[in-house]
Amino acid sequence: MSYIVGVTGGIGSGKSTIVDLFAELGAEIIDADIIAREVVAKGTPLLAEIAAHFGETILLDSGELNRQALRQIVFERPQEKAWLNNLLHPAIRREMLHQLAQSQAPYVLWVVPLLIENDLMEFCDRVLVVDVLPETQLLRASKRDQNKIALIQNIMTSQVSREKRLSVADDVVDNEPELSQNLPYLQQKVLELHHQYLQLAKEKEK
Ligand code: ATP
Repeated sequence: MSYIVGVTGGIGSGKSTIVDLFAELGAEIIDADIIAREVVAKGTPLLAEIAAHFGETILLDSGELNRQALRQIVFERPQEKAWLNNLLHPAIRREMLHQLAQSQAPYVLWVVPLLIENDLMEFCDRVLVVDVLPETQLLRASKRDQNKIALIQNIMTSQVSREKRLSVADDVVDNEPELSQNLPYLQQKVLELHHQYLQLAKEKEK
């Protein structure tokens, strides 16, 4: 079993940005958001269940899930949101744990936005938090997605607080400074963590 580093951080904190730097060093990444898309990809049993429940109109002409339509339904109807979560959450969790168990890499970065909220820390050997101020989250997330500030604020309220996240972190990457000025620092920090995780992975094997 690989050494598992859970990577988390609030919306817009920079998880993908930091994980990309690890990937450049050859680290293996298992990303909850990617798995969440894979389990409902075209042709999967789960997508068939969703289409049976909501009707074929939930599919695009290509046979893929119409995410926009699904988002609208679950936004308007809480029972449907619960139905969907009951279907998807166990499947996503099962697939993530399966992929973690299959990994041959010395260590895996397991990127999970809701690692703490969904009680997944027990599966981690270590937790890395990407940290920025809440106002920076708001600024960067709204700039990226042209999302309404209120929507991002809602998501932030549904996530654990910055304090809670920091209290469970073994390692913290401070992503507050502007990337354009801070890239060398981040690369150095990531390189140090990479070596540290390789070392910890070796010790776990013993
Ligand atoms: P989410 O959980 O919302 O998907 P995330 O934590 O993966 O987000 P990123 O997508 O990496 O966050 O970053 C959010 C946005 O902020 C992106 O547009 C990214 O380019 C930008 N960004 C990340 N880090 C910095 C930084 N240090 N300076 C400026 N912009 C940044």
